[in-house]
Amino acid sequence: DTVYLNGEYLPLADAKVSVLDRGFLFGDGVYEVIPVYAGRLFRFEDHVVRLNNSLSGIRLDLIKSAAEWQAIFQPMLDSSKDQYIYLQITRGYAPKRDHGFPEPIVPTVFAMCSDIKPFAGRVSGVKAVTLDDTRWQMCHIKATALLAHLLLRQEALDQDCAEAILVKNGYVTEGAASNLFVVIDDELITPSKSNEILPGITRDVILELAKTNQIPYREDVIALEALENASEIWVTSSTREIVPVIELDGKMVGIGKPGPVYQKMDQVFQAYKQSLA
Ligand code: PLP
Repeated sequence: DTVYLNGEYLPLADAKVSVLDRGFLFGDGVYEVIPVYAGRLFRFEDHVVRLNNSLSGIRLDLIKSAAEWQAIFQPMLDSSKDQYIYLQITRGYAPKRDHGFPEPIVPTVFAMCSDIKPFAGRVSGVKAVTLDDTRWQMCHIKATALLAHLLLRQEALDQDCAEAILVKNGYVTEGAASNLFVVIDDELITPSKSNEILPGITRDVILELAKTNQIPYREDVIALEALENASEIWVTSSTREIVPVIELDGKMVGIGKPGPVYQKMDQVFQAYKQSLA
């Protein structure tokens, strides 16, 4: 259980930050979650690009190359299993609690590595519930301030559902911690990238695989009512991969089982992972 904190490797229990750290006081930071399959960082360049976008989105100056990040993570990796890196960067410690940025800024950089536990719902399908998207207008930033996401996910869990599908102005955006795909009339549709969704790496991979496997797809707005005509609904993320939603708001989606487009996409997704390992 060795973790990385500000240039040092130490046991998790010994990794400590100040209560004055702006990550603790304000949620003033960003993070990344990067799958590592058999010691290989999955779509690593893409994760670094997204990290840099998040950092510049909160005006935090800290640029490291992919190679520098890789060197930081390497000592924590175990190629005998599937893992994920959690990386968090905050605006660091400041001597007093003040909303304005401190001067100088010394970011806190923390990384740890955990095992990926296969998500059972990936195979069986899950229930989901639609909820009002109460989040802010900068959802493209992977910010550690996740309070709205947490309340939405917990509301879903309280209703015996695995995920909340978020609704904004009559259309759906994404899940509380996932991107959204639907199949309508045999076409795969996902909302376009904007400030209203996190640009998921899994989402990008799925669109690439749809293209190379001749699965019709488009990026477009999805009205809430359109979900009633969806034969399939999926939610996607790095740690859970592609998860079919078989029941939405208490009603069966399609035939109430993971559908054929999911089966195909899951198969090519797994093959793609294998091909990189
Ligand atoms: N959208 C939100 C709000 C998320 O928190 C996540 C990741 O957990 C995703 C989408 C999926 O992104 P990725 O595929 O990069 O894990």
